[in-house]
Amino acid sequence: MTVANFSSEIIYADNAATTPLDADALNLMLELQKKFFANPSAAYKLSRPLKKILRQSREKIAACINAEPNEIIFTSGGTESDNHAIKSVVLEHLSERPNIITSAVEHKAVLNSCAAMKNLGCTVTKLPVDQCGAVDPLELKKNILPQTAIISIMFANNEVGTIQPIKTLVEIAHDAGKIFHTDAVQAVGHIPVDVKHSGVDMLSASAHKFNGPKGVGFLYIRDGLKVLPYIDGGAQEFSMRAGTENVPAIAAMALALEKNCRDMKIIAEKISTCVDTVIDRLKNNGIDFIINGGDNRLPGHLSLSFKGIGGESLMHRLDLKNICVSTGSACNSRQTTTSHVLRALNVPKEYIGGTIRISFGKKNSTVDARIIGDRLTELLRAVAD
Ligand code: PLP
Repeated sequence: MTVANFSSEIIYADNAATTPLDADALNLMLELQKKFFANPSAAYKLSRPLKKILRQSREKIAACINAEPNEIIFTSGGTESDNHAIKSVVLEHLSERPNIITSAVEHKAVLNSCAAMKNLGCTVTKLPVDQCGAVDPLELKKNILPQTAIISIMFANNEVGTIQPIKTLVEIAHDAGKIFHTDAVQAVGHIPVDVKHSGVDMLSASAHKFNGPKGVGFLYIRDGLKVLPYIDGGAQEFSMRAGTENVPAIAAMALALEKNCRDMKIIAEKISTCVDTVIDRLKNNGIDFIINGGDNRLPGHLSLSFKGIGGESLMHRLDLKNICVSTGSACNSRQTTTSHVLRALNVPKEYIGGTIRISFGKKNSTVDARIIGDRLTELLRAVAD
């Protein structure tokens, strides 16, 4: 995907950080912004269309993950959904010094929610991962304590793309009578996510990761699961999340998700081809590299590690060539320490510092991938000379 940027064109391959807004979703959002201003909670007829849009959006989103509409609450995005899921469960049990089980490769939205709860007196168990980034179900089984209040393990990793064995992990959690939350921010809209099949109790998602607008997302809460509200105030969102809903953004999120789910297979094939193209290009050019995250990865994710160059430097050099990739997760891109995810994967020390993440999205083409492979080759050869 090339985007006009003043006089030059940029190849955007950082879709794990955020995705471009789908054109139909943008048009819908603008149209609704122009047409409606009423508060969706009001009782007069001016609010009726907004209530209807909210209901239809909830139905569409629920259908995309095989949930029921009353199991979806709209939030401001992945971070809020993760905070809500973890904190609302833990705070209810605070006097019992509850335990949270999570993994070593979670996004900061989960890790820092756990850290905040630790400061209030609960304990946090961080499960290790194997070299591919996957949690061993036996490790989960071994670590469940009587006082474990919630288990939060991500569906797919944002830095290396590893997909976790969620269904197996959920079965273990449920056998022990524990609540299971998954941060599915990188998975929803990209790979099949079925809450009934996987059995998760709660699931976080964010619109801007699936070509929807920023600042909006949702939290799935299984019907019957008793969870406290996280934001207190009015009675919106079944009294679970107070605050006047951003109806145009919610409608755009629902449309973007519906479109991505409809086209999921075609998009996945296209972006896997992009990933293979970069890998082939580097291999054919004799470049030495490691692919992180194992074989069971998100289709558009490619975390590569090289020797003899820093990932940060590589990212900036690619930027000078009008190619956007990242060194890790976007939220950590200003951090200079090695990523906690790469450390958890035990990426060899000669390679770990030279890691970049390329993430393709539905707007990318194999031409983009070929250019990225060639520019990377030129840069790495220049450094080696
Ligand atoms: N969880 C994961 C796995 C993510 O990749 C991100 C965003 O990078 C988030 C949570 C936070 O989502 P948001 O940006 O919508 O707050």
